Amino acid sequence: MEYAILGGGALGLTAGLRLAQRGERVTVYEREPVAGGLAAGFQIDDAWLEKFYHHLFRSDRAMQRLIAELGLADRLRWPRPRTVTLWQGDTYLLDSPLAFLRFPPLRPPARVRQAAVMGALRYGPPRLFEGKLAAPWVRRWMGEEPYRIIWEPLLRNKFGAASEEIALPWLWARLHDRSTELGYLRGGFQAVYDRLVERIRALGGEVCLGTTVERIAAAPDGDGRLTVATDRGARPFDRVISTLPPRLLCRLAPELPDAYRERYDWGRAYGAHCLILALDRPLTDAYWINVNDPGYPFLALVEHTNYMPPGDYGGRRLIYLGNYRPMDDPLFRQSKEEVLAEFLPHLARINPAFSPAWVTESWMFAAPYAQPIVTLDYKEHIPPFETPIANLYEASMFQVYPHDRGQNYSVLLAEELVERLTGAA
Ligand SMILES: Cc1cc2nc3c(=O)[nH]c(=O)nc-3n(C[C@H](O)[C@H](O)[C@H](O)COP(=O)(O)OP(=O)(O)OC[C@H]3O[C@@H](n4cnc5c(N)ncnc54)[C@H](O)[C@@H]3O)c2cc1C
Repeated sequence: MEYAILGGGALGLTAGLRLAQRGERVTVYEREPVAGGLAAGFQIDDAWLEKFYHHLFRSDRAMQRLIAELGLADRLRWPRPRTVTLWQGDTYLLDSPLAFLRFPPLRPPARVRQAAVMGALRYGPPRLFEGKLAAPWVRRWMGEEPYRIIWEPLLRNKFGAASEEIALPWLWARLHDRSTELGYLRGGFQAVYDRLVERIRALGGEVCLGTTVERIAAAPDGDGRLTVATDRGARPFDRVISTLPPRLLCRLAPELPDAYRERYDWGRAYGAHCLILALDRPLTDAYWINVNDPGYPFLALVEHTNYMPPGDYGGRRLIYLGNYRPMDDPLFRQSKEEVLAEFLPHLARINPAFSPAWVTESWMFAAPYAQPIVTLDYKEHIPPFETPIANLYEASMFQVYPHDRGQNYSVLLAEELVERLTGAA
């Protein structure tokens, strides 16, 4: 069989490798010049740094298996970096149940109640939490104070105006999947994606980088094949797998019927935005700072070089200032200079010694459809792999539920779909 795969991120490339390993002919189309999708990096000296901060949890076993299979396990590190929460100008460690029990901004009875409820949420079966909203549930069971100080900022930072609408199973998964040790591939996750490309090519597959798919339609000869039209020409395939968000697939495949569109061309997603700074000295002693104080223009400050050695990046201290925002937010239209002017003054609130003169380089990245808004009815709108168009399949991170999307879940989806398509055990 001849397969086209739309998208060269974790999902598309894993699907491409698994199909090629089973003797199928594969062509992967990726719009960007570099493979890896949302997990792709950019080069700093000999290392690659993700455009958006990335790490693994211990529970991300499929991704760890893939890394080992690609011969990269010796680069995987599991430090326990400091992940803290900024509240009323101070930072507090909040990376373990014990840390929550010691969290000074909460009164001791509130801490105990919160820890007990968190335990129930983390270890309880997910079906207990289906059909419930996260925000009112947390307020009711953990109390108003923990909600205001910890959980409301977390939900607001990730989901903005939609924070009251988020399904409780998403929060369950968020707690359930976490580990205090965080996994990172020295030199960047880009190595995974570059190796996937190499392996697919070595097995006779094609990976067309810098190639945008513009349309999918029935091939003119009516033999059940589909034509994939790209900005570099059109070709027929026996089967097409789209790893793009369902909304984008609906735009590319005009023959998808209205009933499918009504159900699956649905919901909201936020875009991701990261300003990355290289400093000539450290800013903080933490890897990850959840910014729970109001008034900051970013939701997280991630000092990557408090996690990986600065020596990997020529001695630079690297800091992400990250945001999720609606895709029409003005932030996505601002120039890097405008964003620097807005963001930098806030760093002195975190480290009063900070001076803009510490910044030696900066980069800015944005991506649409980076964070699905997991509302109560999200589950009802997750498309199946099969679409109403014969031989057209959809497998995307928008099908990940209730877990937060991540490389691991894209690998799992790819493997599940390929097993289904090839009938492999
Ligand atoms: C800010 C941020 C932080 C994250 N942190 C983590 C983390 O710590 N750990 C973790 O595991 N995951 C993290 N993730 C999530 C992780 O990056 C994604 O879950 C994963 O990379 C999704 O892979 P994918 O292949 O399913 O989708 P994508 O990576 O979105 O791949 C889809 C691909 O399709 C391409 N494409 C789109 N349209 C077209 C077209 N018309 N023609 C051709 N190609 C097209 C895109 O360029 C893209 O490469 C994070 C994501 C973000 C945004």
